[in-house]
Amino acid sequence: MAPEQSEDRPDVEPLRVPVFDAHTHLDATAQKAGVAPDAAFVAATMSDARAVGVAAAITVGDSVASSRWCVQAATQHQDVYAAVAVHPTEVDGLTDDDYAELESLARHEKVVAVGESGLDYYWDRTTPHQQQDHFRRHIALAKAVGKPLMIHDRDAHTDVLKILREQGAPERVIFHSFSGDEAMARECVAAGYVLSFSGVVSFKNAPDTRAAAAVTPPELMLVETDAPFLTPHPHRGRPNAPRLLPLTVRALAQAAGADVDALCAAVADNGVRLFGMPALPGSAQSV
Ligand SMILES: [Zn+2]
Repeated sequence: MAPEQSEDRPDVEPLRVPVFDAHTHLDATAQKAGVAPDAAFVAATMSDARAVGVAAAITVGDSVASSRWCVQAATQHQDVYAAVAVHPTEVDGLTDDDYAELESLARHEKVVAVGESGLDYYWDRTTPHQQQDHFRRHIALAKAVGKPLMIHDRDAHTDVLKILREQGAPERVIFHSFSGDEAMARECVAAGYVLSFSGVVSFKNAPDTRAAAAVTPPELMLVETDAPFLTPHPHRGRPNAPRLLPLTVRALAQAAGADVDALCAAVADNGVRLFGMPALPGSAQSV
């Protein structure tokens, strides 16, 4: 009865209280596995996730084409939601027509956020100046459609916070795979921003991320895989998938000094409040 165990499919102890994966890339996860990102792949991935208590996922666009794919996946699968935007390293050549399409995608009922957008000073495929212009346009888009902004911030903490202040942040802001330290976490919490923690919180070399988690209240916390990237300990180097989220949840609970079940319940509540998602099947709220 046990699912097939292999190098790339480690056993995962199920969560008792269901959560959802707040940031994943189901299209890239399929591509990395060398299979077509079709409806059968999404259904199988979500069925694997459900078996360990991960009852829904937000699949996040990083280009116009990927955003289109995410909306289609969300339309086809009840437990899949979408976020649409163009990643800061991909903004070169983005046109007004592209923004018009992003806006119409963003208004779709299963699109729960504008993201991922932000700044990435690690890669130099686009200039900081280009990235900042497009980050501002994405902030405006999130406000125009009245949906949360899901931020990608790599090596750009100061400028991300500065631009949010200058532009006026949307009502709901999420830092995906939060990578700041304790001081930045305190600043985000004071502003009411939500911190989404990825597998990084489980990495041996990430004490700053755990210190950030320790000062983040549960009502401002999310958990995510960012699959196929950032696979949690002890499976780093292998492909990530929503079914591995429980490992991150447990590492986060430990870092935050929280009870695992209580943390899961808080995260599920945050999904309802932030994204307008229905209560997760199997949660106390859904019965
Ligand atoms: Zn991502």
